[in-house]
This record gives sequence, structure tokens and C-alpha cells, in this order.
Amino acid sequence: MKRVPEPYRIKMVEAIQTLSATERQHALERAGFNPFLLRSDEVYIDLLSDSGTGAMSDRQWAGLMTGDEAYAGSRNFFHLRDAVAELFGYPYTVPTHQGRGAEQILFPCLVEKKRRSGRANNPVFISNFHFDTTAAHVERAGARALNALTVEALDTEEYYAWKGNFDLALLESLIDEHGSDNIVAIITTVTCNSSGGQPVSLENMKAVYAIARRHNIPVVIDAARFSENAYFIQQRETGYAGTPIRDIVRAMFQCGDMLTLSAKKDAMVNIGGCCSIRDDKELFEAVRAQCVLMEGFVTYGGLASRDMEALAIGLDEAVDERFLAFRVGQVTHLGKRLRQAGLPIQHPVGGHAVFLDAARMLPGIAPDRFPALALANELYLHSGVRGVEIGSLLMGRDPKTGQQKPTPLELLRLAIPRRTYTNDHMDYVADALIDIHQHASSIRGLTFVHEPPVLRHFTARLVPVLD
Ligand SMILES: *Cc1c(COP(=O)(O)O)cnc(C)c1O
Repeated sequence: MKRVPEPYRIKMVEAIQTLSATERQHALERAGFNPFLLRSDEVYIDLLSDSGTGAMSDRQWAGLMTGDEAYAGSRNFFHLRDAVAELFGYPYTVPTHQGRGAEQILFPCLVEKKRRSGRANNPVFISNFHFDTTAAHVERAGARALNALTVEALDTEEYYAWKGNFDLALLESLIDEHGSDNIVAIITTVTCNSSGGQPVSLENMKAVYAIARRHNIPVVIDAARFSENAYFIQQRETGYAGTPIRDIVRAMFQCGDMLTLSAKKDAMVNIGGCCSIRDDKELFEAVRAQCVLMEGFVTYGGLASRDMEALAIGLDEAVDERFLAFRVGQVTHLGKRLRQAGLPIQHPVGGHAVFLDAARMLPGIAPDRFPALALANELYLHSGVRGVEIGSLLMGRDPKTGQQKPTPLELLRLAIPRRTYTNDHMDYVADALIDIHQHASSIRGLTFVHEPPVLRHFTARLVPVLD
């Protein structure tokens, strides 16, 4: 694939500074060797997350100026509602402050609806893979979160086009095992964040929806990266090569009954989200009542009206094919350079991030010495680039035994913000990692100085160890 240049030019710049190697060493020591505790000003290229970190367009910035900050009935709400209805085919929309805002107002309503039907004693949600806040909100609503991800996703080396797919046989057997009366909803996550931004095929989405229909189970689409998923379908799935992205998005959302959206990803705003429903008006009313309680009045849902306008415009820009070709091409380019230099990465790369297999890159570092964190720290010291550990540190301890929980993969995630960095920045990141690969055996693992009891990865403090 030829490298795709940026389909935009730059109108405003934000300076980013590079600290000296000594300054970076001091900064990381002060941060307890945990990149989460660095100040953003100490980072040169920040690949911690693609969430809310993208650049808005001139159209979006202009849209901010048209904000109608009325408490109720703001014109920007109607723009948003209409943009969602046109793109996804779901007319009933509640805005929310971000993705988890949609989760917290929808899931309790779904559980309640199932309970009122009188048969759900052990409520369960099944997803290809629940995102972490999604699983947390399922559990908060009193249900269990089960995953039915295709097994191909676990092999980082083997190419498979659809590592976000459901394992359909597993899905069917989970429904049988728990009884369809207990299944509150099926959640189709596009792309599948937890398996690395990997796409779900339209064929798989259709099959999941058919199974759901047969058992009378509603399907929620967790839509954060809907347009990257549509782009993969256009590029990889037989029969869609010439199909416009908008048509593919329409077809994807015909395989669902409602959506939760974190607009901080593909919709390219810094904050925002929504929950939208196709035709269940009763559910819509219940969700609206929750919205007033948890997010704000039903026509702003925790957002400034100007932010709803930027979101409505962002939805349109998200499905621009030239942008998507560049976007996915940029992530692919970084992955390709690393793979060509022999670095172990998850293959193929997904839509929003490149994942390095730190267990294979640093085989001398045991899981409880956090190889992916060691790699993240080395990358920062070497080049000022910040990535994030997705491995043992994140996984934490078994609350019963106090032992480190085993994790199948020790990954360093480099998430690429949208429209923010150039391809030259990606080359800088690739060069740094290729350098580090040369001296990987000298990298040391880490041990705790301070280990918080819950969600330890955010605030833990560590120190390098020699063994
Ligand atoms: C980010 C994300 C969420 C949660 O959205 P927030 O905007 O961070 O609250 C839910 N699901 C998926 C797949 C996500 O990527």
C-alpha cells in the first residue's frame, strides 16, 4: 500500500517541546517511573490515548461559534439528532458527556426492562469484548459481562482480517448456557478496542443480529470507532470495494437496535457522546429520564451546545474516505516500519493503535517486573514519546489470593490521535523503537515503591531493579 499524505493543511500550530535526556530522566524519576504521572508538557509525542486527543477542523471550530446555549431545545441538539438519524438510521438520540455517560443511562434501563419481563434472574450481557468502562457499567447495573471474541485475536503473529469478530458458536453456546431470558443485550463493539482496534466484518455483524433476533435479544452497538470499522469493511470484505463509507455505516447499524457512542474517538471531538435508539420509544423515554438524573436535561446531556455542534460536524468528517485512507494508512505505516525492522507487533495493526509485544521484545523481564512498562519508560527516556502499558500492571492482583493475575499478552500500546501528528512524527517514533530494539537486553524491569490497592496502574510508583 502506498503511503497516503495528509488530506488537510495546517492552519494553526501548537509548539511541543523536547526535554534533554537528563531532564527526561528527572521527570520520569519524579513520576515514579509511571508515564501516567508525567506532565503532558514533559512529553514530546503523546501516544497515551486516541480519546479526545484529536484535532478539530476549521468547520468544527466555526461550529463552536454557533452554539445556542439555551437550557432546553437548543438548535445544536437538533443538528446532532438529525446527523445521527441520517448517518446511523436511529432517530431517538440523547446526548451524553462521553461514552460512559451513555452506558450509565442505558444499561440500567435495559436490565430493568428485562427484569420487568419477569424472567431474568441472572442478567448477562455478551459482547465480542466489553471495553473496560462498558464492563464496569454492566456490572454496576447488576449484570454480568461475558465476552465471545474469536480465538484468532489472541495470536499476535498470524494475519487475520477480522480479529474483532464474535466467535458465533461461542455466542450461541453462551446464550444456551445462560438461557436467552437472562441475556439483557448483545454488545457489538466496533472496532474492538480491547483486541487492538480490530474490525468486525459485516458478515459477522449480520450473523450476530440474526442470532439475537432469533432469541429476541436486543443488540447494542458500541460505536466509538464506527468509521474506522466501516473503512476496513470497504478495504477487506468481499463485495464492498466500491461501496461508499456512509452506505457501509448504514448497513452496519442495521445490525443493531441502539448505540452508545464515545464521540472522543472517530467523531473527532475532545468531549462528547450519545445514546441513540432505532424504534423502542418506551426505552427511549426511560433513557431520557436517566439522562436528566445523571447527565443533564435531555437536549444537552452534560454538553455545552457548542460541543454538540462540533460533534454533529465531526460525524460528517468521520466518514470522509480520503481522511480514513490517511488515518488508517498512518497507523499502518508505523506498524509496517516496526515489523520490517523485526520488532514484534500485533499483526495486522488495527485502526487506532500499534501494539508492541513486550514479552517477546524483552524476554528477560518476568511479568511481575512489567516488561511493557519497562519498554514504555525506555521509549520516553530515549525520545520523549509516551505510550501505555497494557499488561500485568494493568491486570493487577487476584483480590482473593493477592497474586499477580496472569495476562495472555504484555503489550505497549501506541495510540495515534486523529489529525494531530504528521507522518514524520510516526517515523521519529519508529526510529526510536528500532534503536531501542538494538539494546533491548540492557533494559531493566521494575518493582513497586507504592502500589495502590485498586486501579493501581494510574498512580503506582515504581523503581527499576537489577535482577
Ligand atoms: C472509549 C470507549 C468507551 C468509553 O467512552 P468514554 O468516552 O471514554 O467514556 C466505550 N467503549 C469503547 C469501545 C471505547 O473505545
